[in-house]
Amino acid sequence: MKILIINSGSSSIKFQLMEMPSETLICSGLVERIGSNDAIINYKTNLDELRITKSIGTHSEGLNMIVELLQDADKGVINNTKEISIVGHRVVHGGNSFSNTTLITPEVKDNIQEYATLAPLHNPGNLEGIFVCEEIFPLAKQVAIFDTAFHRSIPDYAKRYAVPNELYEKHKIQVYGFHGTSHQYVSEKAITYLGMDASKIITIHLGNGCSMTAVKNGKSIDTSLGFTPSNGLVMGTRSGDIDHAIIFHLVNNLKYSLDEVKTLLTNKSGMLGLTGHMDLRDIEAKAEKGNRECQLALDINAYRIKKYIGAYVAALNGLDAIVFTAGIGENSSMIRKLVCAEMDVFGIYLEDSKNNIRSKDIREINTADSPVKILVIPTNEELEIAKQAFALVN
Ligand code: AMP
Repeated sequence: MKILIINSGSSSIKFQLMEMPSETLICSGLVERIGSNDAIINYKTNLDELRITKSIGTHSEGLNMIVELLQDADKGVINNTKEISIVGHRVVHGGNSFSNTTLITPEVKDNIQEYATLAPLHNPGNLEGIFVCEEIFPLAKQVAIFDTAFHRSIPDYAKRYAVPNELYEKHKIQVYGFHGTSHQYVSEKAITYLGMDASKIITIHLGNGCSMTAVKNGKSIDTSLGFTPSNGLVMGTRSGDIDHAIIFHLVNNLKYSLDEVKTLLTNKSGMLGLTGHMDLRDIEAKAEKGNRECQLALDINAYRIKKYIGAYVAALNGLDAIVFTAGIGENSSMIRKLVCAEMDVFGIYLEDSKNNIRSKDIREINTADSPVKILVIPTNEELEIAKQAFALVN
């Protein structure tokens, strides 16, 4: 059975075609910079790899381009769209309505629309992807997998903000959490690796967006992103935790408009605000050459992660393993080293030689006698989506 996975971001669409249940990857790709004249399409099969730059105005155009490639006489992998049995859509915000993967119905689409106000960068693109795929693949089952679903197990005392009850009851203001499919995928891998169902694990997803989750016996009990994907760790362009009174100061005393504050904290802060670069590779290269600003930004970034580790050890009342994942977590030995330095109080001991090995496999990078395992586990949100969609339909 062929499953197409669609992971639409604010200006990108990641896609993968898989054969299930064998979990065989047939092709994958990414359409980036949607909305610009020089959008980039990457497409990869076992035999071919290609990169096209062209104008792509909307998500709908991007999806049609993907479908053309899938059926291309030369580089295509299917003869017609009827071969696709399931389309699995990643949806960022499912609010309180969805604790599980679900078949898409008109009510589900209404809910995704309703939560667009809480995830304005993501949910509208996700919904557009669903509408377009319903037209292109009328016979396929359309399935939604929510980023927020894995975090529905967070207890009330961790998910509520200390604001008047009415804001929770009437306006649904609470912690939702994000990157759920990634935290679920790597925590399940870690549980299998450790061979222990009763486990206390902290998963650390460090990519363009960053978040950490405390996972007890396979369930999320706390996570660092909250009502929106804004708070917690230092990210590429997002500030993460700040004192909210800074916003009042910016508006009342420094005369910023609210829109300017939003852009400042969402698009111009984080590593970009601290260094002028958002890609960690550039920041690490400069720090290695002695640039103090870049070194300080790395230290700030790692320190925030350390603080959350401390908080989550308390929430879990113990710790068996920490897991690094996503672009930075999987690739940056420098960040991993900074995070794990002087953490012996928690039983975290990094083995430098293992930390410096580059690999795409699951690996353990702690010393032989470290009480806590330090694991690097490549995330695979698309495979997790495929597995959940397949399980639901079957
Ligand atoms: P993701 O959102 O998971 O695709 O992660 C993207 C981010 O990973 C990029 O912005 C980079 O900062 C970071 N990244 C990717 N490769 C490396 C690397 N080799 N070393 C350090 N950071 C990396």
